[in-house]
Amino acid sequence: MHSWSRPVVPPLPGRGPVPRVFDDSTGSLVEAAVVDGRVGLYVCGITPYDATHLGHASTYLAFDGLQRLWIDAGLDVDYVQNITDVDDPLLERATATGVDWRELAQSQVDLFRTDMAALRVLPPRDYVAVTEAVAPVADAVRRLVDAGFGYEVDTPDARDAGSRDIYFDIDAAAERTEWHLGLESRLDAAAMAEFFAERGGDPDRAGKRNRLDPLLWRAARVGEPSWPSPVGEGRPGWHIECSVIALDSLGPHFSVQGGGSDLVFPHHEFSAAHATALTGQRFADVHAHAGMVAYQGEKMSKSLGNLVLVSALRAAGVDPSAVRLAVLAHHYRDDWEWTDQGLAEAITRLERWRDAVARPTASAPHDDEVALLDELRTVLSSDLDTPAALAAMDRWTAGGHATNGLVAQTIDALLGIDLTRPTT
Ligand code: ZN
Repeated sequence: MHSWSRPVVPPLPGRGPVPRVFDDSTGSLVEAAVVDGRVGLYVCGITPYDATHLGHASTYLAFDGLQRLWIDAGLDVDYVQNITDVDDPLLERATATGVDWRELAQSQVDLFRTDMAALRVLPPRDYVAVTEAVAPVADAVRRLVDAGFGYEVDTPDARDAGSRDIYFDIDAAAERTEWHLGLESRLDAAAMAEFFAERGGDPDRAGKRNRLDPLLWRAARVGEPSWPSPVGEGRPGWHIECSVIALDSLGPHFSVQGGGSDLVFPHHEFSAAHATALTGQRFADVHAHAGMVAYQGEKMSKSLGNLVLVSALRAAGVDPSAVRLAVLAHHYRDDWEWTDQGLAEAITRLERWRDAVARPTASAPHDDEVALLDELRTVLSSDLDTPAALAAMDRWTAGGHATNGLVAQTIDALLGIDLTRPTT
């Protein structure tokens, strides 16, 4: 699937350091593996039925910041993102609203792309919908079954008599591969049980070998989309779709698996388990996660009806650069709350910054400009500390220094904020 237009990233003098990010699988700050000057990044994409709320935007802006630092460090980034365009919540929404699920998905993906472009998020090289990857996922499920990592479970409500759902045997994987339960998430059994039940799992499904075994392949049901395949007619489970799309685009081992912190378990744990069972190798080098965004005291979610949509802010005339700045005022790993006041502060800050760089007054980079670039490189490369970067730029702005344009280029390249005043 095509992604969206790529913003220009201005080159900066010199080179930044290779960034370190917090890895949830080790609980420490690490530099992700670089192979031949390249880094691979996979960030889990949207289920297209509630795009694009500030929670989504915050996650994609975090990993956009990581890419910008890699680029500044002289690395080439292979960025891949999926679209979960066939999934229970999407189908339920389509049924509830009387819209064809394909039309709902397409309209939401279109909106997401427009929002991402407006926020100046660097697009993925490969933007892959699950509906484009059903055949390779089915083939992977067949290989997992053949290798003894997948098993069938009686499915009385299957559309076709005798066809069965297929589950992943986590105990077999823990015994026979380098993956074990908790390798990526480092959670205890109680937390895993809670998150599994909360986040799409089915611990009480009859016939499973382990209550946490995740679904690999869902046999066709009446009224649900399905595809013929070597493992019977049906559709992919949630975790295996990301394993297969990542493996096909990035190879068996890549630098960073990213997403929101609600994906730590079970999604990323089991995507890694499936991939390791398929390849015999550790999946991602680093598992990085962005915090959750709340609004009016609760985590932003469609079910609670407290979504703040990027498209609604744009329609209200809010400059997308101000939205970006409002998000970057928070550390990406923190849980935080979107407020009107936070947005108002971002709008004021953007104006101040634009005033400060509006008229270049020097013919060469001023020492203070170079110092600001160095400071931003330092704070951002240590786990993407955007609040510190914003504070540094605030100090420079308050100083009223001369500029030859380097500051505007720095803010554009590293923070993705265009300080050119929009023409009205
Ligand atoms: Zn995913």
